Amino acid sequence: MVKVKETLNPFDIAREQIDRAGKKLNLDSGLLEVLKNPRRELTVHFPVKMDDGKVRVFTGYRVQYNDAIGPFKGGIRYHWNVSLDEVRALSCWMTWKCAVMGIPYGGAKGGVICNPKEMSKGELERMTRRYASEISIIIGPEKDIPAPDVYTDSQTMAWIMDTISMNKGFAQPGVVTGKPLVIGGSLGRDEATSRGMMYATREAGKKVKLNLKGATVAVQGFGNVGSHYARLMHDEQGSKIVAVSDSRGGIYSEKGFDPKEVLAFKEKTGSVVGFPGTREVTNEDLLELPVDIVAPCALEGILTSENAPRIKGKIVAEGANGPTTPEADDILHKRGILVIPDILANGGGVTVSYFEWVQNLSEFFWTKKDVDEKLEGIMVSAFNRVWDMREAKKVDMRQAAYMVAIARVVEAYKWRGIFP
Ligand code: NAD
Repeated sequence: MVKVKETLNPFDIAREQIDRAGKKLNLDSGLLEVLKNPRRELTVHFPVKMDDGKVRVFTGYRVQYNDAIGPFKGGIRYHWNVSLDEVRALSCWMTWKCAVMGIPYGGAKGGVICNPKEMSKGELERMTRRYASEISIIIGPEKDIPAPDVYTDSQTMAWIMDTISMNKGFAQPGVVTGKPLVIGGSLGRDEATSRGMMYATREAGKKVKLNLKGATVAVQGFGNVGSHYARLMHDEQGSKIVAVSDSRGGIYSEKGFDPKEVLAFKEKTGSVVGFPGTREVTNEDLLELPVDIVAPCALEGILTSENAPRIKGKIVAEGANGPTTPEADDILHKRGILVIPDILANGGGVTVSYFEWVQNLSEFFWTKKDVDEKLEGIMVSAFNRVWDMREAKKVDMRQAAYMVAIARVVEAYKWRGIFP
């Protein structure tokens, strides 16, 4: 385990990021305090009948960070390392993400401490339905709309939608996004985060004069975000995917490979490791490979002051939420590496979640072309807003993104006032 000087507590990092941008914006200290604290936190401990007949108690959270701009919005994570501070940080980042993308939501996040890899489908369903019931007192289409995150997917969302609908007595598709198509999902939602990332990378490439055709890419985390990103960069931009990884380790080949074949291999064997024609690399080494684009798409806190001096990419595209510490940000910025910060780079996911919710509320569905075109428009505008702020204030991309986002939330407070 590498020793690092800085904190890896994600909520401390999130608060420091707010402080940094708040200082540049000359924010009033009272308002800064409001922005640095979640509005509402729900902790639930709930029993689940396991397959062996025993009852196990799980702990879950739903943190509603800020709803100055609109209803709370944010994913649900199943992971053994979920903690209240992690959920707080993720809910905080959702607030800035929605604001920087310019969509009318606040930020929230949920999580359950569990190991979904060791649970049967029946156990996962019972845990999901009970967790959904426990948080049903604060979620709803007009209040707080969950979505998938790490180790949750469209099946998880379908169970939540059904649980809430059963208790209401009628189908309520707008309560979650990331649903299967047949029950109100949106075309393009499954790849939306990655497609948005691809548009953001394309815009960043123009700024740093990197031709994406033939550019080499390393992707950490070959899950929903990472695998679609690798595929889209390969198929639509002509980039060369040379390394990918999952929780079991990574693979590398200077010649590059087709990520679709790696996905098929992973589906068969359970991991990317062992894919023919590649050599094995660790998740740590993958980040330091001599590539043009590094895309962390797994978990937070993996780019620190310890490894930032050795990153070789020209662009870091943050598919994951919170992969970079503030200290690493400073080092990467000084070294001239362009970081497309999470709240911008992966904002395509919540953007198409927003499209899904709009389609549910209006009961009118869009074509994939509609979704992709609208997503591209929103991504390109958000990227340019952040880039312009970076140029105007001479700050790095993360601070610029925070300044755009925080200024928007502060404007909402100015109009709404502080109640009462
Ligand atoms: P996922 O569960 O589909 O995939 C996660 C991947 O990371 C898996 O391949 C897993 O094997 C790998 N992984 C887990 N632990 C790892 C480790 N220690 N080292 C390397 N790889 C590891 O999750 P996802 O939905 O793709 O989410 C990934 C990241 O993207 C998270 O930070 C999430 O918050 C963020 N994100 C997701 C979405 C979305 O729409 N799903 C949107 C925005 C941001």
